[in-house]
Amino acid sequence: MTKYVIPAPKQPAVPVVGGGLFPVRRIFCIGQNYLADVKEMIGDHVKETDDEEKNAIPVVFNKPADSICTGGNIALPLATDNLHYEGELVVAMKGGGSNLSPYAAEEMIFGFAVGCDLTRRDLQEVAKELSGPWEMAKAIDNGAVVGGILPERDFWALEKAHLILSVNGEVRQSENLKEMIKPVWNIVADISRYFEVKPGDLIFTGTPAGVGQLLPGDRVRVGINDLAPVEFRVTNR
Ligand code: MN
Repeated sequence: MTKYVIPAPKQPAVPVVGGGLFPVRRIFCIGQNYLADVKEMIGDHVKETDDEEKNAIPVVFNKPADSICTGGNIALPLATDNLHYEGELVVAMKGGGSNLSPYAAEEMIFGFAVGCDLTRRDLQEVAKELSGPWEMAKAIDNGAVVGGILPERDFWALEKAHLILSVNGEVRQSENLKEMIKPVWNIVADISRYFEVKPGDLIFTGTPAGVGQLLPGDRVRVGINDLAPVEFRVTNR
């Protein structure tokens, strides 16, 4: 067998509640999935369009699989003066496909987790101004923080759930998941119109209003009812 010429990179993985590891293939993220957040974020930067076809294209971006981080100490990322938290529900996929119906997409879900999409907001503002890619704003080392995955497909139970993100014990984001513009199976179906969804994919489903800056020393906690919470502390570079 032909051998790797350098040591093979470690397979990124997330612990599953109750035991085992979920291997991560890709991390899809969607934006603008809570009305209050859309109003907060769009400001002057995004031009509204009357083009229905353009409006139908979902806001989707990727983070690298090896940007997965399960909490603890996270050094302030390089090259930003405005690191933001975005508390989110994360979907873990056990199956996939292309052009999935929402019903088929639901069947492919392995479970759910709590996540925090760390964002260089200053670089995202520049990207929006220049109509450039969000890569520098979003594909941050350790920038996809995720808690243990609960192997549970009952989103209806979660839909009554509430996301709470606090910084140093002070609540900054607090929103019921039923306020999502698109439910999780529609999000998976949307992504599958552009990419083949596969086992091992994680999907960050967007953040509610209340995003804000993190500084070294800040302690962040994100919880969604009975899901394993995400906890981390920002440290100096
Ligand atoms: Mn996000």
